[in-house]
Amino acid sequence: SSLFAATDAAQIPDNIATQMVDMFSTNIDFASDLRRGDRFNVVYETFWQNGEYVRAGRVLAGEFVNGGSRYQAVWFEAPGNGQGGYYTFDGKSLKKAFLRSPIEFTRISSGFSMRVHPISGHWKQHQGVDFAAGTGTPIRASADGLVDFVGGQNGYGNVVFIKHSNGISTVYAHMSRFAHGLRKGMKINQGEVIGYVGSTGWATGPHLHYEFRVNNEPRDPMSIKMPNVQALAGADLQRFRAVAGEMSHRFALLNPADAGVKLASK
Ligand SMILES: [Zn+2]
Repeated sequence: SSLFAATDAAQIPDNIATQMVDMFSTNIDFASDLRRGDRFNVVYETFWQNGEYVRAGRVLAGEFVNGGSRYQAVWFEAPGNGQGGYYTFDGKSLKKAFLRSPIEFTRISSGFSMRVHPISGHWKQHQGVDFAAGTGTPIRASADGLVDFVGGQNGYGNVVFIKHSNGISTVYAHMSRFAHGLRKGMKINQGEVIGYVGSTGWATGPHLHYEFRVNNEPRDPMSIKMPNVQALAGADLQRFRAVAGEMSHRFALLNPADAGVKLASK
């Protein structure tokens, strides 16, 4: 029924299940898409000391069969750059340059469209997307960038502006408070918490008002095609193929039925 029930039954630690949700969340909505018959394989690090299990580390590779579709991901870190990530077995990064939602597990309460302003009563274009969430819910930067503004602005209340590459900027409004130490000019990584949901400014209740701007022109973050992270090339791609090949082999051993089909089709 739920991923966590299944991982509990298989005695897989919660931090491994959480990583699997992150790995596959661009393809699978774990809150609603899981079906009977879905299955997964996972390879992860474990740390031992003097023969005793200490803790689970990173998921090195995962495979999830959801509604008959198979999704696979393998961890790869190019030497020297210190920033690893998950890739499909053919080398495409699963990381998106922008997160769709700056809040985890949320629902959209108001989309990008014309609507009556809830306070002034005038029709106006809603220039962002509202995410319903309780006061204090962490808000994450949707992409790497530089903090351009932190402070109060009348309608927006407590608001953060972040500048990204390619003329893109994002806006996070109505915060109850900012992340500790956040200030203008600071470098921010994708997923870093920048503040907390609130209802400051013109807001009828706690929510995040999120804007995605291209050359300062508001666009709909739910429908715009997000740029992908740059693909692996050259020596990195060669190293990646060795890692992915080994994981692919391990999964084949875990799926004897599939392996038989593959051999038969050769
Ligand atoms: Zn809004």
